Amino acid sequence: MKFCSLRSGSSGNAIYINHKDVNILVDAGLSGRTIEKALLNIGVNPKSLSAILITHEHKDHIIGAGILSRRYNIPIYANKATWDAMEKDIKEISEKNKLYFTTGEEFEIGDVKIMSFKKPHDAVEPVGFSFKCGDKKISIATDLGYMTRGVANHLIDSDVVLLEANHDVEMLINGSYPWPLKKRILSNLGHLSNDAAADVLMKLFKMKAIGIAFLGHLSQNNNKPELAFATVTDMLKKSRVKFEVRMALRNIESDVMEI
Ligand SMILES: [Zn+2]
Ligand SMILES: [Zn+2]
Repeated sequence: MKFCSLRSGSSGNAIYINHKDVNILVDAGLSGRTIEKALLNIGVNPKSLSAILITHEHKDHIIGAGILSRRYNIPIYANKATWDAMEKDIKEISEKNKLYFTTGEEFEIGDVKIMSFKKPHDAVEPVGFSFKCGDKKISIATDLGYMTRGVANHLIDSDVVLLEANHDVEMLINGSYPWPLKKRILSNLGHLSNDAAADVLMKLFKMKAIGIAFLGHLSQNNNKPELAFATVTDMLKKSRVKFEVRMALRNIESDVMEI
């Protein structure tokens, strides 16, 4: 399997997952052009996409989905509530490209087994995903107010995890956002902070439950890549666990991981 974060951050998200001839995009929250360019940069023809999976209806996850689906005849998968919430924004999608999954029920695209799991976030029915092929597993969990036991269980045994490290709490509190927005981000239905991500990863690496962690969905205003990386890795070093942490950034493709 292959994993690449094409773009990750509060300004737009698109994650690429591959197994043989199955090419999956998780979220398409940037312009069609940007996603096409990012795919081409890692040697993937946008025409070869098999599916676009949507985690939730926020704009930074859907804005290019309709364009790509129409341009390349790609099916979009989302749960019913998310379809209802996002349809007005992604515009007309042909019936055959409108596909549904039920949150918590496994489905397959080719040989890839896909599990969706609910997460606490202020959208209608937000999900994370795990992708499995044989004994390989990749999991994605961004946009969550706090780490639930349910989400953590889905991350266990993943070779690659993309986890949110959205904000530095101090930068957020001292920053320019209006208080209601700060409160939303800090709430249980908002986003994971760098400290919260570090705490989750410390537990997972201690259990030897995951291989490599990517930190993603960084806020443009309330975080910095160096700060997120340092906060998480300093805490992991202190706890003396063996770990591997990489970054999934807003404006450039991540390393392509092959597992
Ligand atoms: Zn969101
Ligand atoms: Zn988001």
